[in-house]
Amino acid sequence: MEKIVVVGGGAAGVAAAEALRQEGYAGPLTMLCGEPELPYDRPPLSKQVLTGAWDADRTRLREAEHYADLGIRLVHGRADALDTGGRTVRLADGYTLPYDGLIIATGVRPRRLPAGHDLDGVHVLRGHPDVAELRAAFETSRRIVIVGAGFLGMEVAAAARGRGLDVIVVDPLAQPMIRQVGPLVGAAVARLHREHGVDLRTDVGVRELRGTRGRVADVVLTDGQVLAADCVLVAIGAVPATGWLATSGLALGDGVECDEYCRAAPGVYAAGDVASWVNPRYQRRMRVEHRMNATEQGAAAARNLLRGDTEPFAPLPYFWTDQYNVKIQVHGYLPDGCTAAIEEGSVDDGKFVALYRADGVLTAVLGWNAPARVPGYRKLLLG
Ligand SMILES: Cc1cc2nc3c(=O)[nH]c(=O)nc-3n(C[C@H](O)[C@H](O)[C@H](O)COP(=O)(O)OP(=O)(O)OC[C@H]3O[C@@H](n4cnc5c(N)ncnc54)[C@H](O)[C@@H]3O)c2cc1C
Repeated sequence: MEKIVVVGGGAAGVAAAEALRQEGYAGPLTMLCGEPELPYDRPPLSKQVLTGAWDADRTRLREAEHYADLGIRLVHGRADALDTGGRTVRLADGYTLPYDGLIIATGVRPRRLPAGHDLDGVHVLRGHPDVAELRAAFETSRRIVIVGAGFLGMEVAAAARGRGLDVIVVDPLAQPMIRQVGPLVGAAVARLHREHGVDLRTDVGVRELRGTRGRVADVVLTDGQVLAADCVLVAIGAVPATGWLATSGLALGDGVECDEYCRAAPGVYAAGDVASWVNPRYQRRMRVEHRMNATEQGAAAARNLLRGDTEPFAPLPYFWTDQYNVKIQVHGYLPDGCTAAIEEGSVDDGKFVALYRADGVLTAVLGWNAPARVPGYRKLLLG
C-alpha cells in the first residue's frame, strides 16, 4: 500500500488514521478535513458546550502536533468526486488526491424541514458554527420550539431549560426517543422533561415554519395549531454525506454500502455515521450514528485495508445521552417488536436498569443513572 487517503476528519477518520500508523503503515497518509479547523468531538456540543460549561476548543480530538508526529497530513477541503477506476479523490477546488487505499468517513448532515427551514432563527446542530449560533440564540430568545424528540432534541431541550428558556418539543411519535429506547423508557424521558417544565407535544408533526420579515415567528403543526417561536431547532435526524460519491459507482443506499469487513470496493472502506455494513453479530445491515461506533469502525476499517479483510466488524452497539442529571446508557440493539422490562430499581427512584428481549432472547440493556450496573449485562449480551 503506497498511499492512503482518509476522507472526513471526524472521530471515525481520526481513529482510522491512527490505527493505520499503529498497524505499522509508514507510507504517505492524508486526511481530508471538510471543516476549516482541527478534528473535534461532537457529543459535548449539545451538552457541555451548549450549556456554556466548556469552550468549544475543549472538544478538539487531538492537537496539531499529534498529527505531525504521526506523519498524518491534514488537508482542509471538501471531496467533490471519487474515481474508483483511476483511484483518485477530486477536491472541490479541482485538486486531485491519488490513493491506493481509501477510507470514507464523511459522516452525516442534518435533515431539513421542507417548508420554512431557511428563515433566520432556524437552527440545526452538527458542528461548531451551529452550536455558536444556537448559544447566541439562547441569549436573545424567550421561547424555543424544538422539532424532533430524538436524543439530540431532548438534550437541547434540557440545555435550554437550564438557560431559563420556555421550551416546546414537537414530535409525531408517541414518546420522545422511542426509536432509541422504546415506549417504556420513552415515557420516563417524557416524564423527566415535563417535570423540568418542557411542554412536550407528541403524536403531532410540523407542517411548516412561517416567518415575519425573513425571521421565523410561527411553527404550524399538522393538527392546525400554531406555536409562536423566537427560535427553532430542527432535530429530525440526518442523512449520510454521500453526495460527493454520486458518480463513483459505489453502492449508496442508506449510506455507503459495505460488507462485513467495512469494504465498499477494492481498496475502498467506509466507517462511522456514513457507513452501512452487514453486522455479523445480527446478520443484518446497519448504519450506526453513535460516537463509540465511529472510533471502533474507523480502526476496524483501517486494519482490514492493511491486512486484507481479516476482521469482520461485529460490534455490540453502544450509546449514551445526558439530560439534566440523568445519564442513559444503552448497550445492544432494539429489534422491531422487542419488549422492555425494568430489572432493577424504578423510574420513581430515578435509577433503574431495563432489559430488552425479542422472542425471549436478551438483545439490549439500558441503564438510567446506573453506570455501575450495566457492564455486567453487557457481558451477558456479548455471550
Ligand atoms: C450534537 C451531537 C451530539 C451527539 N451526542 C452523542 C452522544 O451523546 N452519544 C453518542 O453515542 N453519539 C452522539 N453523537 C453522535 C456522534 O457524535 C457521531 O456518531 C460521531 O461524531 C460520528 O463520527 P464520524 O467521524 O462518522 O462523522 P463526523 O463526526 O460527522 O465527521 C465527518 C467529517 O467529514 C466531513 N465531511 C463531510 N463531507 C465531506 C467531504 N465531501 N469532503 C471532506 N470532508 C467531508 C465533515 O465535515 C466532518 O468533519 C452526537 C452527535 C452530535 C452532532
